[in-house]
Amino acid sequence: MSVWAILVAAGSGERLGLGRPKAFASLNGRPLLAEPLERLDASEWIDGIVVAAPPEWEEPCILVAEEVAAGKVAKAVTGGPTRSESVRAALAEVPEDATVVLVHDAARPLVTAEVIERVVTALGDGWDGAVPVLPVSDTVKRLDGETVAETLDREGLATAQTPQAFVAPVLRDAFSTLQQTVTNSTDCASLVEAKGGRVRAVDGDPRLVKVTTRADLELVESWL
Ligand code: C5P
Repeated sequence: MSVWAILVAAGSGERLGLGRPKAFASLNGRPLLAEPLERLDASEWIDGIVVAAPPEWEEPCILVAEEVAAGKVAKAVTGGPTRSESVRAALAEVPEDATVVLVHDAARPLVTAEVIERVVTALGDGWDGAVPVLPVSDTVKRLDGETVAETLDREGLATAQTPQAFVAPVLRDAFSTLQQTVTNSTDCASLVEAKGGRVRAVDGDPRLVKVTTRADLELVESWL
């Protein structure tokens, strides 16, 4: 089995207000990207890594990989205008003989060996993909403007994180789908689901928060 990881790091990170991409925000004195890159590289499950870099930041991504001695990084490709387009660009560089593709958000720096193992080993037995999820603890409403239109049944609802693992040909097939669907999707599993693929939910990790604001950055820093 050959497992390749795609690390999507091409987001602009506007909400952090740093004037540079989120992947290069400082996390404990290092570019944020260094943390997930080092952790993916250290995983015994992962054979190779492709990074989707912010346009014109491909070379700095390679330098970060060199600094943390992430020798599994094969390439830093130019990311696209949306997350899915960034995944698509990186997927094109994953070798044809890869059996499993793991997709991870660089914005979730604290990826653990345990969650990587959970999603990779959840495949097989006819499962096409595996995603880490957390149960929803708040009551969830669907809104129509400022009007509460509906209260959803919390039972059976969960929030999805990354890393998400997929049987490689299934993920490639999902990305060959309609351009518009790909552009609008916020995770890879939704594309596989839309094609009728079977995606398995495994336990997520509360430490896998996605860094969006400065407060998230400080929280992750405090956990490091
Ligand atoms: O924007 P958001 O934080 O939801 O992005 C999730 C992940 O997708 C981040 O790691 C970000 O760098 C990545 N991304 C990307 N290309 C984009 C937008 C987001 O690689 N165009």
